[in-house]
Amino acid sequence: LVLTTGIFAGCSGGTTNKPSDANKGGKDDEIVIGFSMDTLKEERWQKDRDTLMARAKELGVKILIQAANGDDNKQIAQAENLISQGVDVLMVAPHNAEVAATIVEAAHEEGIPVLSYDRLIKNSDVDVYVSFDNEKVGELQAEYVTKLVPKGNYVYIGGAPTDNNAHLFRKGAMNVLKPLIEKGDIKLVYDQMSKDWQPSEAQKHMENALTANKNKIDAVICANDGTAGGAISALSEQQLAGKVPVTGQDAELAACQRIVEGMQTMTVYKPIPKLAETALDVAIKLAKKEKVETNGTVNNGKIDVPSVLLEPIVVDKNNMMDTIIKDGYHPYEEVYKNI
Ligand code: BGC
Repeated sequence: LVLTTGIFAGCSGGTTNKPSDANKGGKDDEIVIGFSMDTLKEERWQKDRDTLMARAKELGVKILIQAANGDDNKQIAQAENLISQGVDVLMVAPHNAEVAATIVEAAHEEGIPVLSYDRLIKNSDVDVYVSFDNEKVGELQAEYVTKLVPKGNYVYIGGAPTDNNAHLFRKGAMNVLKPLIEKGDIKLVYDQMSKDWQPSEAQKHMENALTANKNKIDAVICANDGTAGGAISALSEQQLAGKVPVTGQDAELAACQRIVEGMQTMTVYKPIPKLAETALDVAIKLAKKEKVETNGTVNNGKIDVPSVLLEPIVVDKNNMMDTIIKDGYHPYEEVYKNI
């Protein structure tokens, strides 16, 4: 169901200093979109970039993309550079949800609307948010494992504290776990986030959790496939990989392989091409000052940000063929190559 909220005919801030069309990266009437990315580290972000580039070409719009390698100052400098090139719209996937508010301010001063891409920019007047239902991602992970293991010692290994999504994933998981913890069925014996989503941090968390509980761990909820990979390495040091359920997210190729091999239990698949294409459509509408269709709002601490939220999908061994393979997200030969 798509609700239409008619907004974004522009954003606050003057247009006096906006470079003339002649100065910007494209031809006179060409739409130019800037995309400031945190990272290209996880495989999914490469898909985001590749889809955006291909789609922009198809639609005849110009896209300028920069990635900051997890460095806040670099991301701000890159975003400022895109702004000074006179982009019509700036899309941002922030490394740090709070710090990125300065990017929104800088863009708005030049009359450039900002689209928060996948990750929400907090405490700012960001114009629109395009993502998946991230709280639901956490719920899907926890629902899956609690059905499999209704009782026992649970470990939660979360993502980067600087990423608003990491908090939403944890919130979703806790929505499901909390009543079971209160009932006494589940004991959350370890609950930590992982700096910058580093798999090595997740591995250390898993090692610590195993040591502290004398290897008596019954289920592990990892926020994404990268952290799941780290946790599975720690489990395999104790010959426990494949014995203790582990969740993930992103349907990375390595995770899909682990799933069909029985080393990882599930992943949450977010069809990235759909996200990239939706975001680009929204960005083009913003550039043309047209109405944008949204299907909800998400509060960012300052405002309710009009949002377009897509549905995440559970993937395990049983529906791998009907989802990942059917969609061509990864080729069959790759996913099943060790089977
Ligand atoms: C994204 C995940 C990704 C993680 C690490 C999150 O904000 O939603 O898909 O795995 O960042 O990059």
